[in-house]
Amino acid sequence: MKNKIYQFMQGRYGADDLSRFSLWVAVAFLVVALITRNSILDTLALLILVWCYFRMLSKNYSKRYAENEWFLGIKSKVTGFFQGRANTAKQSKEYHIYKCPTCKQKIRVPRGKGKISIHCPKCNTDFIKKS
Ligand SMILES: [Zn+2]
Repeated sequence: MKNKIYQFMQGRYGADDLSRFSLWVAVAFLVVALITRNSILDTLALLILVWCYFRMLSKNYSKRYAENEWFLGIKSKVTGFFQGRANTAKQSKEYHIYKCPTCKQKIRVPRGKGKISIHCPKCNTDFIKKS
């Protein structure tokens, strides 16, 4: 029996990031479908599961690989976006962003230093702001 499963799985693509992610999405959909008794989500979860198994059992390596690469590209874009946001939020706690009145260049100034003179590195204007 074990041998048969092994033979069956040989040459198959198997699990990757995309299939793991879609499994989680399917599970999430199933949970929400159970709570809300939403039959559309139920069907959607089933479709995702079928698609997921189709990919894992597929023998078309290059196509599956390309799909996974595409997914990883989107994933890194999404995580990059949120990391960028978290960064700005963190910075706004410690820094004030001012715009130069002359050239609109954004200048980062540390907070809590009282009235300071800010020098614009782009157009050499000096202006006074409270930090
Ligand atoms: Zn300027």
